[in-house]
Amino acid sequence: MNSKLIKILSEAEDKKSKDIKFKSNEPGKCPMCGTENLEYGSIDIEDNLMGYPWQCKTCGAKGTEWYTTQFDSHDVHDMGNQETPKKIKHK
Ligand SMILES: [Zn+2]
Repeated sequence: MNSKLIKILSEAEDKKSKDIKFKSNEPGKCPMCGTENLEYGSIDIEDNLMGYPWQCKTCGAKGTEWYTTQFDSHDVHDMGNQETPKKIKHK
């Protein structure tokens, strides 16, 4: 996925949080103990959300950081054959 198409909002939205009291709700910080000692897994795309699974190397908590994504712009790498549509004959 083209990273230019992804706008990462600074406020990560944890859609799976319920009534758990977090020490931190910032990207890069463990919500349970507040340290920046997270080890990230591979990215997970779900609808318009990007998820980074993490495990805290300080307290052992596990979770996922969710980022919202939104369309920004097209980046055309190949113009294609713009003449083709005119050559198509309809029977
Ligand atoms: Zn932790």
